[in-house]
Amino acid sequence: MAQPRILILGAPGAGKGTQSARMAEHFDVEHITTGDALRANKEMDISDVHDEYDTPGEIMEAGELVPDEVVNAIVEEALSSADGFVLDGYPRNRAQAEELEGMTDLDVVLTLEVSEEELIHRLTGRRMDPETGDIYHLEYNPPEDETVEERLIQRDDDTEETVTERLRVYHENTAPVIDLYDERGVLERVDGEQSPEDVWADVQAVIEDAV
Ligand code: ADP
Ligand code: ADP
Repeated sequence: MAQPRILILGAPGAGKGTQSARMAEHFDVEHITTGDALRANKEMDISDVHDEYDTPGEIMEAGELVPDEVVNAIVEEALSSADGFVLDGYPRNRAQAEELEGMTDLDVVLTLEVSEEELIHRLTGRRMDPETGDIYHLEYNPPEDETVEERLIQRDDDTEETVTERLRVYHENTAPVIDLYDERGVLERVDGEQSPEDVWADVQAVIEDAV
């Protein structure tokens, strides 16, 4: 089987990163995530392409979208060296979706569906392991290892204030991208509110059916 080219969509906190890590391992594909790429380049000077903010870090902390030209370039570069991939965090608006069309074909487009109340709970309780990039949750998925527990950090944008703004930006800009794939009849919907294991079983089945 050729390596699948997967696009995972869903609101902030829906479980994209959690499921993408599993897909990357199970299907031996690259995890391309614009959020991680931008966090690794937080201090990059982008003042020439944004009127209000100077760096991706400032934009992320405000919960707004980083300019299209910055993220388009990140994705184009990452896709050029990947056979199979799971793309997570992009496209986040219709212009990015159009840009993606010119970069690659997709085998599977899936979206994780989770209620708003649950999204807020997941985002504010999310913690990251800065050494491994592993994703945890204070309540749903705490680490077993005490050393890991002690070094966990909260993302700057997982505060209640920024979460509210990110969800607003999601409804305004990203939900229309999901509609676009739905209108084309290629969208696979997965109930993201189940346990991570049950979501994974459904995600795996959707991908295996498609390739
Ligand atoms: P989430 O956990 O909400 O899915 P991400 O890690 O994907 O968060 O993204 C964090 C932030 O990085 C976003 O709020 C946004 O500021 C920026 N970002 C990530 N991907 C994109 C993108 N495709 N276009 C514009 N901004 C992006
Ligand atoms: P996204 O990448 O879509 O923003 P994450 O994968 O980072 O989402 O998950 C957001 C938070 O929710 C994390 O703290 C993660 O541990 C937790 N989480 C992910 N999937 C589930 C699930 N199915 N049930 C409960 N919590 C989950």
